[in-house]
Amino acid sequence: MPFGYHQGRLHCEGVALEEIAAAAGTPVYVYSAGAMRSRLHALQRAFAGQRAMFCYALKANHNLAVVRLLAGEGAGADTVSGGEVMRALKAGVPPERIVLAGVAKADEEIRLALASGILQLNVESVPELRRISAIAQAMGTTASVAIRVNPDVAAATHDKISTGRKQDKFGIAYETAPEIYALAASLPGVRPEGLHMHIGSQITTLEPFEKAYGRGVALFRTLREQGLPMRRLDLGGGFGVRYLHESAIDPEALAALVGRLTAGLDCELLFEPGRYLVAEAGVLVAAVIYVKEAQDRRFVILDAGMNTLMRPALYGARHDLLPLREAPAGTHLQPADVVGPICESSDVFGRDYHLPPMAPGALVAFTTAGAYGAVMASDYNSRPAPAEVLVDGGRFDVIRERRLPEEQFAGERIPDWLASGAPAG
Ligand SMILES: *Cc1c(COP(=O)(O)O)cnc(C)c1O
Repeated sequence: MPFGYHQGRLHCEGVALEEIAAAAGTPVYVYSAGAMRSRLHALQRAFAGQRAMFCYALKANHNLAVVRLLAGEGAGADTVSGGEVMRALKAGVPPERIVLAGVAKADEEIRLALASGILQLNVESVPELRRISAIAQAMGTTASVAIRVNPDVAAATHDKISTGRKQDKFGIAYETAPEIYALAASLPGVRPEGLHMHIGSQITTLEPFEKAYGRGVALFRTLREQGLPMRRLDLGGGFGVRYLHESAIDPEALAALVGRLTAGLDCELLFEPGRYLVAEAGVLVAAVIYVKEAQDRRFVILDAGMNTLMRPALYGARHDLLPLREAPAGTHLQPADVVGPICESSDVFGRDYHLPPMAPGALVAFTTAGAYGAVMASDYNSRPAPAEVLVDGGRFDVIRERRLPEEQFAGERIPDWLASGAPAG
């Protein structure tokens, strides 16, 4: 357990979160290096008998230190933009372990990927395939590509994080995939390496994976029988984690499923876990600014809001909340609505959290905040964007400074024609 109480204080590994809050200010994201390593190792162990590579999906948490940590343990990188390719390279991920996905890759992103010599580009449409072919030819190189197929499987997750259904914008329809794969094999400047799929995020049961992977493997076999070059099957990410009462995907069960489905297939496997590797390794620590007692409700107002952690406002997600000081046994817990300071009605973390009495200055931690947290933080309302801290055993370091308002507006310019003269009144 990376987070737990020792002597009444909530710790991340060997460090009291209060100590980190004092050093880095609040709100602050805190990550456990040990928890990230152990998730990656669990996957690597489970798939030890299969030719599998794990490319960490940077979009879950793209901090350079996080990417470096996982790369150091053997992970590659799954990227969805030119910027993420740059981050992966900067963090030290070898290009031959980087894949580039994304619904619409712009010319510069394709050029960057090809110039960097990354492992493969996952292609999402025919126009994109033709564009990659043209750019690779112009650069005098050959692009390794995988065709992203949409297996038309409902992932039993939140509508806004489902990607593998017919109505979703991702990938190429299953039925037309053979034709498009054959096109890829015939175009100059591209070399198809295999298939890619990614059906959604926060999937906590194996059934959707079984359906989608089954379709992917069947298509892979069909295409190979047609004599097309097939060497790699990229099965994406989406492995669910525990927020409240769910349980995380079991790597051993997943590996057994994949082993059964791909038995005798003779291909390289690639996975793109994001959330699974980092979500439960992180918390968001925030301070109570005010406690407001309304007629029949208690509002606990924090210095973190939807600008810091957007998942509740964006997806209706709920994160568990722990006080940094453990409530003494027998403390009467009372319902409270926990909200942020942002001027939006949707800036609510959740209603009816059961919390001990809270005074201004008290510190709390949202759990399972390591994925899709800091990366979605914004400058909205010009509040300082959160710092990020990485803990390893008994030591910790700031891996991203707070972004203060003066830094947020440092890149803004008042044009001359507005700068001269007094404000109109
Ligand atoms: C977002 C994404 C992932 C990672 O999803 P998780 O649910 O965080 O594991 C993997 N592959 C692709 C193509 C993605 O867009």
